[in-house]
Amino acid sequence: MTTLRHPFKALMPALASALLLVAGQASADTITVYSARNEQLIKPLFDTYTKETGTQIQVLTDKEGPLLERLKAEGAKSPADVLITVDAGNLWHAGRLGLLRPIKSPLLNANIPANLRDPKGEWYGLSVRARTMIYNKKFVNPSKLSTYEALAEPEWKGKLCLRTSKKVYNQSLVATMMATLGEQKTEEVVRGWVANLATDVFADDNGVIKAVAAGQCEVGIVNTYYLARALDKDPNMPVGLFWANQKERGVHVNVSGAGVTKYAPNAAGGQKLIEWLSGDTAQSIYTNEDFEYPANPKVKPDSIIRHWGPFKMDLINVSKAGELQAAATKLMDRAGYR
Ligand code: FE
Repeated sequence: MTTLRHPFKALMPALASALLLVAGQASADTITVYSARNEQLIKPLFDTYTKETGTQIQVLTDKEGPLLERLKAEGAKSPADVLITVDAGNLWHAGRLGLLRPIKSPLLNANIPANLRDPKGEWYGLSVRARTMIYNKKFVNPSKLSTYEALAEPEWKGKLCLRTSKKVYNQSLVATMMATLGEQKTEEVVRGWVANLATDVFADDNGVIKAVAAGQCEVGIVNTYYLARALDKDPNMPVGLFWANQKERGVHVNVSGAGVTKYAPNAAGGQKLIEWLSGDTAQSIYTNEDFEYPANPKVKPDSIIRHWGPFKMDLINVSKAGELQAAATKLMDRAGYR
């Protein structure tokens, strides 16, 4: 008898948790998220949410292109409640395709500054990604640095490294420049950058950081979290960060963010999750896991990036990056930026 009891006892906890999961899936208190963000960030966020609220979260992770295609194809039958992705250009695009629904949330409006959310309330920025200049400390006196535009001057000939224009980060940077400087001036600047390139454009921001560290070029433009990760691994890397355009409009920022989907079966639950993501606990996880800046200005950046100090950000609404993305891509093409 006793020998039979043990295996049954051992099964009990497994059975209980399996039943709980089924109950969770069946109840209205399950949220389904389509996410283009990495597991390493999403898992601690959602585990904490489930622990705090008891709400189960189902996640489908993929790249933003396939996720948008899937949402479009599923239409009214989609199980998704929330879309999470990076870049205002992508969020804007999802809105344009009619995949999101506007939500009204005094809490989100209080937590997230107006320039970091969709004016129609279809999506909200949840982390800030600053795209600014880096320089080789052995070759460059940072007092020589000022604006993105100045990197087009002849003094930087053969000294600039850039990531490819195919990446949405650069399309967003150029799109917001167009909105502020106008098309003609922006095209002159981009032509100047191309004329100053030290070498072919890089596939990713890490390539730019390595080239600046190696002295292959003296300056580059990258998202700061890549530099934070690189310095975390190799603190002696001779690469400094410079906050661009501080005497002008401020540094170019983009967001990662989220919206409630048009046909969300649990829209109320989806909105609650996004509201929670804008609060203290989640905003701290964003900056601590990924070295991005909190979108909620009441939350402190991670200690690793705090030493770069506060910076003035460009207050243009990030949705401009979406609106002008196609025009920016054409402009970069005309200017020979590959
Ligand atoms: Fe990135």
